[in-house]
Amino acid sequence: HPRKVTRALLSVSDKSGLIEFARALAAHGIDLVSTGGTAKAIAAAGLKVSDVSDLTGFPEMMDGRVKTLHPKVHGGLLAIRDNAEHAKAMKDHGISQIDLLVVNLYPFEETVAKNASYEDCIENIDIGGPAMIRAASKNHDDVTVVVEPSDYQSVLDELATNKGATTLTLRRRLAAKAYARTAAYDAAISNWFADQLKIDAPDFRAVGGKLVEALRYGENPHQTAAFYRTPELRPGVSSARQVQGKQLSYNNINDTDAAYECIAEFDAKRTAACVIVKHANPCGVAEGSNLIDAYRKALACDSTSAFGGIIAMNRTLDAETAQTITEILTEVIIAPDATEEAIAIIAKRRNIRLLLAGSLPDPRAPGLTYKTVAGGLLVQSRDNAVVDDMILKPVTKRQPTDAELRDLKFAFRVAKHVKSNTIIYAKDLATVGIGAGQMSRVDSARIAARKAQDAAAELKLAEPMTKGSVVASDAFFPFADGLLVAIEAGATAVIQPGGSIRDDEVIKAADDAGIAMVFTGVRHFKH
Ligand code: 5GP
Repeated sequence: HPRKVTRALLSVSDKSGLIEFARALAAHGIDLVSTGGTAKAIAAAGLKVSDVSDLTGFPEMMDGRVKTLHPKVHGGLLAIRDNAEHAKAMKDHGISQIDLLVVNLYPFEETVAKNASYEDCIENIDIGGPAMIRAASKNHDDVTVVVEPSDYQSVLDELATNKGATTLTLRRRLAAKAYARTAAYDAAISNWFADQLKIDAPDFRAVGGKLVEALRYGENPHQTAAFYRTPELRPGVSSARQVQGKQLSYNNINDTDAAYECIAEFDAKRTAACVIVKHANPCGVAEGSNLIDAYRKALACDSTSAFGGIIAMNRTLDAETAQTITEILTEVIIAPDATEEAIAIIAKRRNIRLLLAGSLPDPRAPGLTYKTVAGGLLVQSRDNAVVDDMILKPVTKRQPTDAELRDLKFAFRVAKHVKSNTIIYAKDLATVGIGAGQMSRVDSARIAARKAQDAAAELKLAEPMTKGSVVASDAFFPFADGLLVAIEAGATAVIQPGGSIRDDEVIKAADDAGIAMVFTGVRHFKH
């Protein structure tokens, strides 16, 4: 099935590599047809090119909204070459075949990323480009389609080895890629609209993604992996600039995301904060008077687990903090920005991956999260509930003090980012015990308390930091037992969603111990 290329239509927004490619096509004797800007660029390089307007007999009009939407173009792309009826239709209507289509689309995603106006984004929705791409791809038996400059060379290689023809194998591959591009493009558009309208509903947001890079391996070395960017535009690991260090691994990306989504809960104008993550769960979170203070408090929670961890900061990384962080093994550091000095200090530890995300994502923003199941995809709106927006209902005889209330909010903020069942002990705006991912809430409460004992031993404290702490639970206590463990560990106040049929029993246990409890009415399961 080799197909000789006699005529090519080129219409590209990204003009990189265009001239070299067009020159090589012309050298094969291929006629070039092009749209306004592309034709101008090709002609300026001294190559012969005809204008698509001459082909259609219509000028480009309506700000370029209508350029190539014409039977002379689409007939030339869609006609089956060895079908007598199609051949007759071409002859009757003066349509000539187009064997190679080279299109890359109006830069819609880039325009959105630049925070362009609504009108600018709309104007950057390409209509004729995707139509031609889809037409040429459907007719890949006869037509070669190229949607990005990185594929120019493979087409030239085939033309060179096959006497100016392409193989069916290449045409099929390129068609598959072309549909991936138009699907990702439309997905980006639907997600942008949904963002504008603040709509979370999955039927307003097409699922799709664009391959960013192949990863060395997946969660384990025997698994293959790749990283895709979804249409959602959210500052974080997907958009961050990597300043130094080896390529991020699958687990690095997963953990860094967990860390940055958690740190985003801490408004940088209100406080400095630090999150240390291991295996997608925080092992220390703290607010502080500055970053180094926050880092030290976060590290004190569980310095054993923090070894080889992922560190997220909510403010510009400074030199002093950078220096302190480099004292122990760290895989990844992510922050909105870093000073030149801090970057220079990290540079001495070449294995640390330093990522600068530019800004913090909005924890209240709408969006979707995905999870795969065998043969399916579970889609839900992001958990964008924030404790500051919740009405906290005291349910015990004793009300929390101001200091307890401050720590309760802190603990619940963190609980949202820890795998269920989650129990968080916190004191002075720092976690002092984190219980994550247990199948029973009682076990999470026990593990967190025991970790606080270990930390106390390590730091040579007289008693574990859970004494006089507050405790947060991501979901209601189904029985009083989990709460009793927390009370025994020394917690004096509790925050939890409430809503269990045994709430009365749980409230009574709190009252009996003289501790304060508030209900949030909002659950933060994370599985
Ligand atoms: P040029 O720079 O050649 O003037 O424009 C190239 C861009 O126009 C390409 O990104 C191509 O996808 C797009 N394009 C081609 N035909 C049409 C059309 O009929 N309508 C719209 N909106 N865009 C088109």
